Amino acid sequence: MPVPEIYAVALPTPLRKTFDYLAGEDCHPEIPPAEPGIRVEVRFGNQTLIGIVVEVKHSSDWDLDKLKPVQRRLDETPVLPAEVLQLCRWAATYYHHPLGEVMAAAIPTALRQGEAAQLEQEKAWQLSASGVDCPATELKRAPKQQALLQRLQQLHPEPLWHRDLALQDISPAALKALAEKGLLDTIAITPSPERPPQLLREASLVLNDQQAEALATIAPNEFNCHLLYGTTGSGKTEVYLQAIERVLERGRQALVLIPEIGLTPQTVGRFRQRFQRPIAVLHSNLNDRERKQAWLQASQGEVDIIIGTRSAIFTPLKAPGIVILDEEHDLSFKQQEGFRYSARDLAAIRCQKLEIPLLLGSATPALETYFNARSGRYRLLTLTRRAGNARPPTVELIDLRRQALQEGLSQPLLDSMEQHLHAGGQVLVFLNRRGFAPTLMCHDCGWLCQCRHCDARLTVHQYPAHLHCHHCDYQRPLISQCPTCNSRELHCVGQGTERTESVLQERFPDFPVIRVDRDSTRQKHAMRDIVERVNEGNPCLLVGTQMLAKGHHFPNVTLVAIIDADGGLFSTDFRGPERMGQLMLQVAGRAGRAERPGKVLIQSHLCDHPLLQTLIRQGYSAFADQLLRERHLAQLPPFRHMVLLRAESKRSENAHELLQLARQIAEHLCPSSPELQYLGPLPAPMEKRNQRFRHQLQISASNRAQLHRLLQPLIAQLDQHPLSRRTRWSVDVDPQDMA
Ligand code: ADP
Ligand code: ZN
Ligand code: ZN
Repeated sequence: MPVPEIYAVALPTPLRKTFDYLAGEDCHPEIPPAEPGIRVEVRFGNQTLIGIVVEVKHSSDWDLDKLKPVQRRLDETPVLPAEVLQLCRWAATYYHHPLGEVMAAAIPTALRQGEAAQLEQEKAWQLSASGVDCPATELKRAPKQQALLQRLQQLHPEPLWHRDLALQDISPAALKALAEKGLLDTIAITPSPERPPQLLREASLVLNDQQAEALATIAPNEFNCHLLYGTTGSGKTEVYLQAIERVLERGRQALVLIPEIGLTPQTVGRFRQRFQRPIAVLHSNLNDRERKQAWLQASQGEVDIIIGTRSAIFTPLKAPGIVILDEEHDLSFKQQEGFRYSARDLAAIRCQKLEIPLLLGSATPALETYFNARSGRYRLLTLTRRAGNARPPTVELIDLRRQALQEGLSQPLLDSMEQHLHAGGQVLVFLNRRGFAPTLMCHDCGWLCQCRHCDARLTVHQYPAHLHCHHCDYQRPLISQCPTCNSRELHCVGQGTERTESVLQERFPDFPVIRVDRDSTRQKHAMRDIVERVNEGNPCLLVGTQMLAKGHHFPNVTLVAIIDADGGLFSTDFRGPERMGQLMLQVAGRAGRAERPGKVLIQSHLCDHPLLQTLIRQGYSAFADQLLRERHLAQLPPFRHMVLLRAESKRSENAHELLQLARQIAEHLCPSSPELQYLGPLPAPMEKRNQRFRHQLQISASNRAQLHRLLQPLIAQLDQHPLSRRTRWSVDVDPQDMA
């Protein structure tokens, strides 16, 4: 008896395994044989699910009689090419995450729900055979029809698109009449993209020596990771554009990942301005239909450049030529919940398999990347000069000790703002806290306004007035009386962007103050409108959070003020100082990008702090070297590899108990040693969040392979244990945020 075909199917379930099904009966000789990457519909318990076939085989660990047949095969050919399937499998193993959920992250919703994997078709008209031959003079008594026939004959064999009708002033009645005479047919076809012979819309710039050297180092046909390390404005984007140009010339595609598209429409604009080639942008505002369309266009080679955020790393490409990650240090490249992957690290794996170059760009590279570049694993391409005419800004510290402050602003800072505004410049004020004030305190009894669901204080908001927890979203009306002592002396403590906005507006009534934070940019085009308004160039003050640090070009900003540099220096997260340094330089990079020189003023109570001093006097490389020395001494990443097991529960004991069990199993498998160390279980830095108590167990190892050899059986045993079903828990490989 012939052995039946069996499919191993990845299903969207939290179980860390695949499921075997028998191939269906409906094998038709014309349908190509099943291959990994096709979708199937199967019964799973009492549900019907759509899964991806990951293996076609002829044996199973299960009794063949017990296997169910698949209900339906959805695709003739794979939706997921072998290469992306392999990437998903690699990610599932490395991040110890269920393959079905990994694939759910990789495939657009519409396809996961079973829609056909076909590009959308558009309505158009084309001449029929008799229409091609019909002499136009036959229609001379119906001039509109005659003109239309002549047009179509000129166009032929190109179709006339429905979307062009209004544009070209064509009468629907004439169309209808020609169709009734059998001279033309309605058709539905997939438009093919326009690719004019000229690749470029505008000439590329003449590169300076450093840019040219960087570009020359990127060998097109082989895998290498490159770190393009250059201050803001040093011309990194121009290097990306020219690297892409070479890729397109060879008929290949470029995949570009950027942190947040909504915030930086300018970046996408520069790509469109440069190339006369179809571009797909995968941003978070796409609906399911548009996302599927863009994904399929990339997969079928209908677009040449794909620009997207984190999850775009899984986009199938017909002819991949290069992957570029701009602002590679940005935290958004690491997913912080569910499937906790790093798009940057997956990009390296993918490019290696594809044998194409990876280009990581940043003015402030992540320490991991910087370390790889320093140690020669990555090629280091450095741009030290600002391109064009811009000069680097001067940076000065303002020592806050013993200074009188007006709502967090020192007199020298206010004086400097005044000077710059009167000289026609724009001032950017950076403060990484939205809302009016971080908390409300009773002046008489010291009561602080806590969130009832979290170990956190409620933030005071003024527009509209309310109290808001930024961790669980709990909101309540503003109060005017202390709930413990009934005093009316409630004070807002500390500064948020709203408060700084109103102080500055009072102080500089003749200049507009524009606030940029998540609250002020909620509306769809708010950010775009702000950028346009600022770029009109009139003197103004911009007050905002890190949203201001990301990639905008504000050519008229001459002064950047950093209100508080100190937060990151006392952070409980070992990456706090690294993040502070990156953010400060990114913000500082907004100053003086055009002709006028820029200035950066940084307020701090810790002006003598060695890290701050190094950053300001010697720049990011020296700062990063110093941090690396500290990490080496403390045996932290990138010198060790880390995994964080997290558990959370309504009852603190449950989360703790589960991780206690995890540690016992782990120590049994692999006792603690200098090579492999355990820390915890310990309460998370914010133990209670959103009514749940959170604990964590940290495992670190000097050898990555050893860590994964431990994790595999550890997680398998935990999965089997009844405790693990009662408590929510997760695995975070290479965690970026220790909270
Ligand atoms: P980055 O991406 O590093 O911030 P950009 O590529 O945006 O830098 O360059 C900053 C500015 O310098 C842009 O206005 C850009 O057009 C200009 N520029 C870049 N490279 C050159 C060059 N080789 N010659 C002249 N201007 C350049
Ligand atoms: Zn009180
Ligand atoms: Zn809360």
